[in-house]
Amino acid sequence: MKLNYYCSTPSCKKLNSIKVESNNRFDLKQEVGLEINERCKHCGNHTKRHINRLHASPNYFIILGGLALAVIVTILLWDFGFVSTLSGAIPIAIWMSEEKKASAFNKVLIRD
Ligand SMILES: [Zn+2]
Repeated sequence: MKLNYYCSTPSCKKLNSIKVESNNRFDLKQEVGLEINERCKHCGNHTKRHINRLHASPNYFIILGGLALAVIVTILLWDFGFVSTLSGAIPIAIWMSEEKKASAFNKVLIRD
């Protein structure tokens, strides 16, 4: 899961992201603890964030992978009739599942 947060330095406030193994905040607490303390990629200062304030976003690389897969399937199955349905359905299904994973993560907060 890719998690986003904003830098805490007032002059910077740029968006940063970290990659974690966890798919929910309960696992995340086990993985990184209650707070992260990450270095900003833009200004180099450290930002402390409670894990409830990290927001997941869909993995666009996976979605792009789905689009690439759809192109391959379209080429391979060109001779059959159902190409358009299938090649449209694959990236949408992958995109929906990525959106769902991210929103499921964002909905659940942990209590300390
Ligand atoms: Zn910064």
